[in-house]
Amino acid sequence: MKIFVINCGSSSLKYQLFNMENEDVIAKGLVERIGLGEGLIKHEIAGRDDKIKVSGDFSNHTVAIDAVFEQLTHAEYGVIEKLDDIQAIGHRVVHGGTKFTESAIVDEDVKKAIKELFSLAPLHNPPNLMGIEACEKIAPQVPQVVVFDTAFHQSMPEYAYSYALPYEDCKELGVRKYGFHGTSHKYVSQRAAEILGVNIEDTKMITCHLGNGASVAAVKGGKSIETSMGLTPLEGLIMGTRCGDIDPAVIPFVMEKKELDVDGISNYMNKKSGVLGISGVSSDFRDIEEAAEQGNQRAQLALDMFAHRVKRYIGSYSAAMNGVDTIIFTAGLGENSADMRAAICEGLDYLGVKIDKETNNVRGKETVISTDDSKVKVLVVPTNEELMIARDAKTLVG
Ligand code: AMP
Repeated sequence: MKIFVINCGSSSLKYQLFNMENEDVIAKGLVERIGLGEGLIKHEIAGRDDKIKVSGDFSNHTVAIDAVFEQLTHAEYGVIEKLDDIQAIGHRVVHGGTKFTESAIVDEDVKKAIKELFSLAPLHNPPNLMGIEACEKIAPQVPQVVVFDTAFHQSMPEYAYSYALPYEDCKELGVRKYGFHGTSHKYVSQRAAEILGVNIEDTKMITCHLGNGASVAAVKGGKSIETSMGLTPLEGLIMGTRCGDIDPAVIPFVMEKKELDVDGISNYMNKKSGVLGISGVSSDFRDIEEAAEQGNQRAQLALDMFAHRVKRYIGSYSAAMNGVDTIIFTAGLGENSADMRAAICEGLDYLGVKIDKETNNVRGKETVISTDDSKVKVLVVPTNEELMIARDAKTLVG
């Protein structure tokens, strides 16, 4: 069974083609600059070292996806003969609201629901839907499945997802915590249980997805009961360019002083803040770690603030679950930065967290990084959202 997984952004898209007999990736790639003139496909085939680069004017998502399918079925280096060789297409969709607690097969109702959520995810759901509609045009015979970033967090209890704003307004407007990165939190928690050889139903895990976007989740018995992102991905941890938690009163104060309108303050908090805003160096943690090593104090402050915030969430989620037995680090920073993991875990000995310096010195590889006598197991588990999407697609169409 072959499953094509696609993650559509507004001007770019990422894709992977899986062979589900062994869950291997047969081909994968990226299309950049969709609708922006001269665009580029970077296409990789398993077992080939070189990247195939195809440039062209990909005026919309349909043209871009059509061009990707041309690569997959190419006479010389194609990996499938025809589109019918693909049994399902899985799409990442960011917002599923309260309607979707799990993945779904695309039909008119599902598309309508994704559209209704445009106002809650204006940057993500519209291009996600464009990808679905493009695939419907190009490959109408292939069933499509949507996997939502919010779905895993729908198990949060009402007291955890509610905001202390007027109750009726929250219900009417859909203002509540939804949480994101759900596919990643679900994958790494399940994978950690497999690695440790434990029954996930008996576990209390804290999953730390630390990338350019970052979030923490409390996963009790395999279910999300709390997470740091909220109505939008702006709440919670400090991120590459997002501020995360702040006193809400800062917003009208800064709007007035800096003469910003609604779009202005939104841009300020989403694009100009986070570790970029603090350090003034970059939103990329590699640049910030390098600058801090060279003595840049604002870069060091950004790293200290980031670690402190993650540590606070770990403490609060341990309290919410009456303990923690496993902490997992994933995504770009979580998988690769031994220094950041060490900084976060420092001073968590009261919880029973002991990191092994040597095993922690790892990048992007499944590893238990706690000492043998650490009460809490700490792991690095590289995330694999695409595989989760492919598995859900397989289950739903299988
Ligand atoms: P993601 O959003 O999961 O792709 O993660 C991207 C973030 O991971 C970027 O901000 C990078 O700075 C960070 N990252 C990737 N590799 C490393 C590394 N080797 N050391 C520190 N940070 C890294």
